[in-house]
Amino acid sequence: MPKKVLLAAPRGYCAGGDRAVVTVEKALELYGAPVYVRKQIVHNKYVVTRLEESGAIFVDELDEVPEGATVVFSAHGVAPSVHAEAADRSLKTIDATCPLVTKVHSEAKRFASEGMQILLIGHEGHEEVVGTMGEAPDHMTLVESPADAERVSVDPERPVVWLSQTTLSVDETMQTVDRLRERIPSLQSPPSDDICYATQNRQAAVKTIAPACDVLIVVGSGNSSNSVRLVEVGLESGARSSYRVDGVDELRDEWLDGAETVGLTSGASVPEVLVAGVLEWLAERGFGDVEEVTSAEETLVFALPPELRRDMKAAAKAATS
Ligand code: SF4
Repeated sequence: MPKKVLLAAPRGYCAGGDRAVVTVEKALELYGAPVYVRKQIVHNKYVVTRLEESGAIFVDELDEVPEGATVVFSAHGVAPSVHAEAADRSLKTIDATCPLVTKVHSEAKRFASEGMQILLIGHEGHEEVVGTMGEAPDHMTLVESPADAERVSVDPERPVVWLSQTTLSVDETMQTVDRLRERIPSLQSPPSDDICYATQNRQAAVKTIAPACDVLIVVGSGNSSNSVRLVEVGLESGARSSYRVDGVDELRDEWLDGAETVGLTSGASVPEVLVAGVLEWLAERGFGDVEEVTSAEETLVFALPPELRRDMKAAAKAATS
């Protein structure tokens, strides 16, 4: 049987995740270890372990950070109360929140200041949702699913707008919006997509290859929302089976039983080295023929956080004077 791998593109690191990881690396270079990071900088075990080995210390809350130390906020963003707590404790902060998450925070603040009710479509407890809801807790209600859209109650006297987490399934989110709109015809939409370009592109790439895949392998961690969505999108789009793995160690030979075509992709917080490991494992099992299927080109790059750039510039100047 001819065996083949369809490699989805784009896949892996997005501009916001890359920026966040480089922020921690540069902070370690500049200030020396330890550098504290509130929550996982991106939702990927391999990345977190590698940064820990370089001197990063990941904490859940700021009370675990010694007074006066440097702390990086993760790509998923934080509520204003976290910034306030950092200031109270005299922590030096570097905010690696993805600019596309910051955009959603800005929308939430603006709509709340206009007295609107905000229906935030997202997953309860996800760090990004906690951060976004913290911008205007009295104005926001979480809607987790199309079924939730049937139950949510709104004040008929006030205008209503929906926003969303950046890493959701595009199709499921639109189903939720459609249900909301049936119930609230005056529902307003955000000025531009909240589901980010990287999430959309990775889902579109999976949809392209899924119908031809006997098995679709998604590299990404279990707490990575966009990685988990890729498995769901793959199955909905025709892949006969789909598995998410953190890396090569979790792959199982039996998944390949009877398979001719294996699809491969990775979530937005996944470095390419993990995909390379999976490709090697597949090649050892006869799947050495790899076709990359590209459905979009990505060129977006975000500048590092301004507070870090300022310190890097000062250090460079001091070194030459
Ligand atoms: Fe930013 Fe999207 Fe990447 Fe999240 S997945 S860090 S929103 S680019």
